[in-house]
Amino acid sequence: MSVSGGIPYTYADNAATTKLSSAAFQNMLPFLAEEYGNPSQPYAFARPAKHAVRLAREVVAQCINAKPDEIYFTSGGTESDNWAIKGFALQDGVQKQLVTSTIEHHAVLNSCDSMAVVGHRVNRLPVDTNGVIDASGIERMELGRNTLVSLMYANNEIGTIQPIQEICERVHRHGSCFHTDAVQAVGHVPIDVQELGVDMLSASAHKFNGPRGIGFLYIKAGTRVCSYASGGSQEMGLRAGTENTAAIVGLAAALKESCERMQATDERLHGLETRFISQLNASGLDYRRNGANQLPGLLSLSFRNASGEMLLHRLDLMHICVSTGSACDGSNTQVSHVLKAIDLDDEYAQGTIRVSLGRYSTVDDVDRIAAGIIKVLTMHT
Ligand code: PLP
Repeated sequence: MSVSGGIPYTYADNAATTKLSSAAFQNMLPFLAEEYGNPSQPYAFARPAKHAVRLAREVVAQCINAKPDEIYFTSGGTESDNWAIKGFALQDGVQKQLVTSTIEHHAVLNSCDSMAVVGHRVNRLPVDTNGVIDASGIERMELGRNTLVSLMYANNEIGTIQPIQEICERVHRHGSCFHTDAVQAVGHVPIDVQELGVDMLSASAHKFNGPRGIGFLYIKAGTRVCSYASGGSQEMGLRAGTENTAAIVGLAAALKESCERMQATDERLHGLETRFISQLNASGLDYRRNGANQLPGLLSLSFRNASGEMLLHRLDLMHICVSTGSACDGSNTQVSHVLKAIDLDDEYAQGTIRVSLGRYSTVDDVDRIAAGIIKVLTMHT
């Protein structure tokens, strides 16, 4: 149970953001108060901050099997995606090809589009009805060292996990560079950058019970990418700006904790999902679950001839937080680019919501959400 303004809520929008873990919070506290030294300064007072940033980089590197100097802290997933794409495209004044998919987050899609405006070529790979990227499409493209392929590890709307290792191998056979937006995956499924073979990987702390406004970009040593923010020499000279020590420390603590608990959390979420689905099935509602090989706890559900927006607002009145899968944002009632890309029938697409369970979700939560959905939809059909 979550509480806001004294009102208890059932929170099931963990793919949007998560509650800060108490381990992350406790680790951050000293750096929000007395340990405020600038980590770049050489004097003794700044040493705890410098040491904390160094340690955090080592912890993060260990969690994804990278080297510490391949971890660059950023302001979050959006910045990491922008950096990977623009940093590759703009490195040397030579025209680049950017290959992505039709179901990426807008941080990737809009970054690519902004590079098309300045003369770079952009291609989007289609997906099947489960949202699995058609990797064979890569073979039909002219790739080479001036191509970056950027494909997401797991989709934020429908949860589909992509065969990233296999796609990355294909891309490398053509001598191209590979980036993955792993914002929804890091801290939730095991990530080993050596095994995956990726050149760049984006992550964001607030998706794994860390603070908002902090993330990282993994850049494999030797990857051709230019600096994103110009200024001082922080982040090995590639991302200027005084480090947010508290947020960096919080990110590392949250990631370590998420990785240590990953298997147990996964098993628990699987149990909650099964319980939730069996209640929906018993209700006789006509619905489908979107995606395949989904992230733990993420359920994209499309109810036939229903309105996802109406459902969200009715659940909100019951103090249940889910998100609509059919709208890009609260003010946009269009079917999302992801649901269009998987070719979902309109009679289902309009009735889509995303229920995303997380570390703090309980049996009571899923029972309340299932009962709420069944109540609203049996009243309105
Ligand atoms: N990429 C994906 C797949 C996401 O789900 C999100 C956030 O929802 C982002 C990127 C952006 O991350 P941030 O909110 O940290 O900027």
